Amino acid sequence: MPLHETEAIVLRSYRLGEADKIVSLFTREFGRLRGVAGGARRRMSRFGGSLEPLTYLRVWFYERENRDLVRLNSTEVVESFMDIQREYSGQVAAQYVAEVCDQFMPERESNDRVFRLIVHVLRGLKQPDHLDAILCYFSAWMLRLGGVLSDLDQCSRCGQKLGVGASYYGNSWEGLCCTSCREGQGRQLAAASRELCRSTQGQTLERWRQSSPEMETSRSLRQFLDEQIERHIERKLVTKQLLDEAQCL
Ligand SMILES: [Zn+2]
Repeated sequence: MPLHETEAIVLRSYRLGEADKIVSLFTREFGRLRGVAGGARRRMSRFGGSLEPLTYLRVWFYERENRDLVRLNSTEVVESFMDIQREYSGQVAAQYVAEVCDQFMPERESNDRVFRLIVHVLRGLKQPDHLDAILCYFSAWMLRLGGVLSDLDQCSRCGQKLGVGASYYGNSWEGLCCTSCREGQGRQLAAASRELCRSTQGQTLERWRQSSPEMETSRSLRQFLDEQIERHIERKLVTKQLLDEAQCL
């Protein structure tokens, strides 16, 4: 069995038996995969604290024949994001990033751009001002890189340009609708929020956040992007509700 080496972000980990852990990783070269970390729950484990969620690692693992789970051999911490998680809102924001990646990314499909996006967003969360805007940037890019971001310029029903008017979206709708096609239904997404979403394209997170997006605009955009993600993964995001509550504190 060959030993593989790659960089990875720990998305989540859970107990396996008395002493082991199962770890979900998003790796740079192999995409999302799950592995068994033997003895990881023992006090003197060779993995130390490296398998905490959102740790950026270098990992060595073996594939196991006819098994879905790889076997983790060793890890080395590249960067820790524990600092972010000292504040409750930062902790929930980081968990949101992990949950979206865990649910959204197909297993065993590498995507270097998504990998770099996650690392940038986690670094961005180290300065915890305006979490909504950072998460908007993250979600807009996840949807764009996954090829499922709705058309922001045209009504999905009649094809009319949305222009500077409001647009609407709903749970089972294909995309955004104009005022005439909404038939009294749906939640509103203002032109400013669509523009904010568009503006994430071609900009690094650092430069984009310097434009100081308005809180109302980014909050409303995040609601829309979350709804798009939930439609794609066909389930509700657990951390979305926690995040909404945390921001009300
Ligand atoms: Zn229309």
